[in-house]
Amino acid sequence: MLDLDYSLLKDVTLLYVEENKVLQSTFAKQVEKRVAALYLASDGQEGYEKYLEFKPDIIITDINIPKITGLQMAEKIRAVDDNVSIFVTTESNNNEFISELLSLNVCACLVKPIKEKELFSMLVGRGKLIAKQKENIKNTKILQSIIDADTHFLAVTDLETISFANKTFKNFFHIEQIEEFNTKYNSFIDIFLEQDDFIHKGLLKDDEKLIDLMLRTRATKRNVMIFDFAKFVPKSFQFNLIPISRENGKDIYLATFIDISLMTLEKVEMRNKVYYDNLTGIYNRNKIDEVFKDSIARADRYDETFSMILVDIDHFKSFNDTHGHLVGDEVLILLAKTIEKNTRETDTFARWGGEEFVMILPKTSKENAAIVAENLRANVEKIEHKTAGGVTASFGVCQYEKNDTKKNMYEKCDEALYRAKENGRNRVEIS
Ligand code: GH3
Ligand code: MG
Ligand code: MG
Repeated sequence: MLDLDYSLLKDVTLLYVEENKVLQSTFAKQVEKRVAALYLASDGQEGYEKYLEFKPDIIITDINIPKITGLQMAEKIRAVDDNVSIFVTTESNNNEFISELLSLNVCACLVKPIKEKELFSMLVGRGKLIAKQKENIKNTKILQSIIDADTHFLAVTDLETISFANKTFKNFFHIEQIEEFNTKYNSFIDIFLEQDDFIHKGLLKDDEKLIDLMLRTRATKRNVMIFDFAKFVPKSFQFNLIPISRENGKDIYLATFIDISLMTLEKVEMRNKVYYDNLTGIYNRNKIDEVFKDSIARADRYDETFSMILVDIDHFKSFNDTHGHLVGDEVLILLAKTIEKNTRETDTFARWGGEEFVMILPKTSKENAAIVAENLRANVEKIEHKTAGGVTASFGVCQYEKNDTKKNMYEKCDEALYRAKENGRNRVEIS
């Protein structure tokens, strides 16, 4: 027989329940020095109480003990813990209790008097198992705390319900238990907001699953938007599904979410910057170029028209010459703000360059555009700068006609504007 590795017992705790004091002390002498702790009890009730108090790794109990029997005690313990190792001892080898012992998941039945060799073989065998279990529990705890410390959301899902989530995920969704999430959402994909450029339910084709949608979406576009109810803002995440196992014919995935809200915001800001004028804060020529392209395409496709207004400040050079560039800049800002304030939602107003501005008016004839221009002219005339005084501007109006290009639209408008200057400034002329 192999030598027993007693070191496997050094972390094991043990409860021994036996009415006979002599047997108790013999047992204690044999075992005490080899285990981490030994607890002794003389009846079933005391045994159960010591179990609750010390939660030993192994329980050895005689069947025939006062108050409640060893089997009754084992039953009570099993109600609390279906894992702890329980052994029973009996006077003789009888099969009377065999079915109860099996149903209580008792590890073995030892016949008294217990042979030392047999006892230790059994204890060491259990010790090995218990050490492994403790190691597993420790590893699981470490793993759980690593996963919880992760600032990214992590969840395990079969694409319908989730079976695991880390703290970050639970905190975001304000849930304590996974079940709360599963009751709230019919399907995992329901948490994604239906937003352009993001993955969401509306993009699923017939019979398609989220994973199929993911696979046909470019890796850089696998982003989702989820509403943050704590901050009351939508947040964007880089989303990924990693297959980890298969259970009951279903693939199980680890879903990971990396918060990219700040990156998204920056991207939007960057994109916006390109379209705005630094000095006045209104749109710039880039924006107008885009609107021009769209307007021409729309006009041709839907047989519509649109109009354009060019605005040029009168004698602007003299503001600069008399009061300096800074005052000139202030006048530009003032005029831009005044016109912007009087611009309809559907129209686009931008700084064309220097002291010239432009407005595009969709689905508008040049006669109607001229009315708008006249109204703007009147508003500009009311401007009173604290040093520069009154400001006026001249307006050229034209309308899109088939085959016009951006260039000749501008030329038509510029010609009308030139006439407005010629005819005395502070006026509107139509091409
Ligand atoms: P008109 O009534 O014929 O339009 O006369 P004007 O003086 O307004 O026209 P002109 O084209 O001779 O002068 C435009 C001036 O606008 C010249 C230029 O220095 C000035 N200007 C262009 N961009 C800016 C700017 O961003 N800030 C300032 N302060 N001045 C600018
Ligand atoms: Mg000019
Ligand atoms: Mg001018």
